[in-house]
Amino acid sequence: MTQLDLITKATIKCLKDLCCIPVGISNRHAHLSRKDMDILFGKGSELHLKKELRQPGQFAAVETVNLRGPSNAVVERVRVLGPLRQESQVEISRTDNYQLGLSAPVRESGRLEGTPGIVLEGPFGSVELARGVIIAWRHIHLSEISAKLLQVHDREIVSVETAGMRGCVFKNVMIRVSNQFEPEMHIDMDEANACGVNNNELIWICNKLSPHYKCKEMESYDN
Ligand SMILES: [Zn+2]
Repeated sequence: MTQLDLITKATIKCLKDLCCIPVGISNRHAHLSRKDMDILFGKGSELHLKKELRQPGQFAAVETVNLRGPSNAVVERVRVLGPLRQESQVEISRTDNYQLGLSAPVRESGRLEGTPGIVLEGPFGSVELARGVIIAWRHIHLSEISAKLLQVHDREIVSVETAGMRGCVFKNVMIRVSNQFEPEMHIDMDEANACGVNNNELIWICNKLSPHYKCKEMESYDN
């Protein structure tokens, strides 16, 4: 391999890390406040790491809670994601909405005004949330440099294309930009199943002439 080959390979690897957007499928999950954690898992209890997520600092905890909806239907063993937050929030799919007898709206994380509540059950007690259940608005996390390379900005709404037999276009995907982020598109289980996409598969932002159109070629270059 010549020096030029090595430089080309290194450049492509950098571009791939910055511009290729893998899918991260979110199953239903709960974020807990300190106060609710105390009630559900005991005073001063802490979350235990099960698996780190792609977004730095975020993790799936060993702890789970049960969700009890107004119809008294229960969804068991719903994963808690860490770290703790200011306010508890439960993210479910549209299918879960039906099962629990709820009508949670599609919302950005943290925008909880007017959202329905739910009962959380843990090993030490239960909490009745007055609000906080949402269907997460599908979104793409990007660092600032990735956003520049992909020619998008924070809160821009884009369409996204997936590959494969059941490939589809997702409209109304929100771009979120922060230097705390790694490139990743978050969709829920219903959305993933509808287009047959798997975790870590790459997606494309439509109508953007930018390097990520070359992701397939970059992938083959790795082999
Ligand atoms: Zn996300």
